[in-house]
Amino acid sequence: MGRLTRWLLAAALACAVGVIAADAAAAFDGFGTLEADSAYGQNITFEVSLDGGAPDELELLLRTPGSDAAFVVPVDASGTRASYVWNTAVDYVTPNTLVTYQWRAFDGDEVTVSDEATIRYDDDRPGLDWQSRQLGEATVHWYGDAEAQAVRFGELTALGVERGEERLGTTLAGPVDVFVYASRDAFFGALGPGAREWTGAAAFSEIRTIFMWNSAEAGSQAYLETAMVHEVTHIVFHDATDNPFHEPARWLNEGIATWSEAGDAGGDRAIVENEASGGGLFAFDAITEQFPIGERGGRLSYAQGTTMVDLIVDTYGPEALARMTAAYRDGASDEEALEAGTGIPADELYADYYASFGVEAPTPIEPEPIAPSNVDRPTAGEVDPGGVDPDAERPPDEGSPSEDGEPSGGGFDVGLIVLLAAASAAAGLAAVAVSRRAERRARS
Ligand SMILES: [Zn+2]
Repeated sequence: MGRLTRWLLAAALACAVGVIAADAAAAFDGFGTLEADSAYGQNITFEVSLDGGAPDELELLLRTPGSDAAFVVPVDASGTRASYVWNTAVDYVTPNTLVTYQWRAFDGDEVTVSDEATIRYDDDRPGLDWQSRQLGEATVHWYGDAEAQAVRFGELTALGVERGEERLGTTLAGPVDVFVYASRDAFFGALGPGAREWTGAAAFSEIRTIFMWNSAEAGSQAYLETAMVHEVTHIVFHDATDNPFHEPARWLNEGIATWSEAGDAGGDRAIVENEASGGGLFAFDAITEQFPIGERGGRLSYAQGTTMVDLIVDTYGPEALARMTAAYRDGASDEEALEAGTGIPADELYADYYASFGVEAPTPIEPEPIAPSNVDRPTAGEVDPGGVDPDAERPPDEGSPSEDGEPSGGGFDVGLIVLLAAASAAAGLAAVAVSRRAERRARS
């Protein structure tokens, strides 16, 4: 048997084995054990065993709190196990997020889904030896020697929840987790790359989690306690306004949280008064989605929200807030919610607000018209129609030496053509020689 024949037979056998293996792989018979593991800031790994072998196609469905749809990841599968690694070093995921996952297989005409399972993405960085205690609706987590401080935060959370529930006419939809970090680095490591550098505390309402940074650097004890009440009010506000249509106005959310710190506008009135007589105030429409990044714009946005909430409570009673949150739950727009709370159209409420600071409501700034160009443009010259003029003078003889003795451009071209022709002829001869040799060898 020739060498080639032996190779072909081996290949044919390999194909047969391949077919048998594919048949076995098609015998997917459901999902076995589901497993998941995570390392904070690195990854979340999902694994599943495939009874009978891999299906034709496999997907992993991932869901996080607050998202209305699953994120679908196609996963390559062969054999009886499959896994997917979610690279959370690239895709930031907030710690304490409860990830719900499910596997889905397509095999022939059949679609099979696994049970749903969850994994909590814990902040398990080295050195964070978490301890926790439950205080009413709050579970506080701390490490190191911060127990007393953590317990104090837990008590403040309970107080903030109680006050918030009463003011906003709601009951908390679930427990709240509070994580107390001991250093700025550890705290910002939890908040991810989008955090503002001045952040001292942060609430992630969707996952009902508050992150605090407990150190003298973060602020005084009074500041930390105020911040705690502020953040927990955000979570109560989230529950009080939760709806599938839109987020309530940011100025209102921050305004209620800041106003709740002490139950009044505090020093924010002076900030608005000062800006009203200086650079001017923002339209509420301008601070509905986002606040300016700059310190001055950010501070004024918070202050306008807080003083507006103060005006609403003073004029229309504290129940106005609960009427507004109830309207949001029913799907009201910002304007409709403000009217539901106060009984007057939103435009009128805005006008009253600006009047209380002695200014007119800001109006949109119209763009300046674009003036005609004042650039001097060169006048267009005669257009060259291109092509070859048959009456034009013939170019000098090709190949004639130029004045400095070097061959002219034309001569060089001809030389090149001659060289190319020679090379091509040589290649042709070589090809003939090679093919003849090949013929001779084939006959031997
Ligand atoms: Zn806030």
